[in-house]
Amino acid sequence: MKKNALIFGINGQDGSYLAKKLIEKKYSVYGISRKKNYINLSKLGILKKIRLFNFTDFSHIKVKKLLKKNFKEIYFLAGQSSVGDSFSNRISTYESQIAPLKNILDFIVHQKGNKSKFLYAGSSEIFGNANGKKRINEKSQKKPVSPYGMSKLIGYEIVKSYRSIYKIPVCTAILFNHESPLRSKNFVFKKIIDHVKKIKKNEKLRLKVGNIKIKRDWGWGPEYMIGCHKILNSKKIDDYIIATGKTVSLKEIIKNSFKQLGLNWKNYTIIEKKIFRKFEIKENYSNIIKLKNNIKWFPRNDYLDVIENLLIYE
Ligand code: NDP
Repeated sequence: MKKNALIFGINGQDGSYLAKKLIEKKYSVYGISRKKNYINLSKLGILKKIRLFNFTDFSHIKVKKLLKKNFKEIYFLAGQSSVGDSFSNRISTYESQIAPLKNILDFIVHQKGNKSKFLYAGSSEIFGNANGKKRINEKSQKKPVSPYGMSKLIGYEIVKSYRSIYKIPVCTAILFNHESPLRSKNFVFKKIIDHVKKIKKNEKLRLKVGNIKIKRDWGWGPEYMIGCHKILNSKKIDDYIIATGKTVSLKEIIKNSFKQLGLNWKNYTIIEKKIFRKFEIKENYSNIIKLKNNIKWFPRNDYLDVIENLLIYE
């Protein structure tokens, strides 16, 4: 029988790449989105291959009706995904990340004969600044510094509790930052690349950025979705960090992006104190040993590959 999968947030960056991957693997793919303009799915040329549901809320009744189809795999890749926006949209961030999650898990537990496996998109934001320069693993201290990070920590704990109490195959992929051509321009990596390309074409522009000393582990989005699929299809379903294991400053990303097109970043970049965040993760370092040992897989592209991939993409 053909495998099937349901993706919440199918038209987001990750949802679209995961859908593409699953279609290549001959899955029947179903997806949920609040809007009806499926731009990302169209860009990847897979819109017609997906069965779409248009939902504006994820109430218990709606989720129950939807999940009756008995999906083999369910991925939750939806919700308000910007750390910055979560300070002004706190409630909608919590509601979009947590409310659907408990409805899905409750259904999996209480529907007789349900065998769905479930993956939640968690975030490195759950760790906050608690671990300093130490490499973070799945057991590291969790102390988020934003409403987004808090909502992801609650989500992570809910999934963990359901797995432990009810013995169901559900997990969290703790995703570090990852980019792609489908990433929204609100996110700093995409903003840098878009500016570099325009400046190269002689547009009179300046790149305005906040704190360039922050350090992150940036990876290649499409590849992270391969990881999510592997985690959900592993023998013992568990929580895993997905990251590259390489940390770099925002300054290095800017410098290297301009350098790739023969430009000096200092001539085009303005640091604006007013866009510094009051609460922010200063630096994070990932430890991906659990992923390497148990899943026998890890992301191959590092931040330099990400810059290169994005610069060549029109
Ligand atoms: P996107 O923002 O691209 O996609 C998320 C999707 O969720 C959107 O396309 C939207 O779909 C839906 N959504 C947005 N806001 C809301 C809301 N308020 N209520 C309900 N649904 C909403 O994010 P990514 O694809 O980049 O990320 C996927 C998941 O992974 C997210 O949960 C994100 O938090 C998490 N994550 C991502 C990281 C990254 O670096 N990309 C890092 C760590 C975690 P629609 O409008 O069609 O309904």
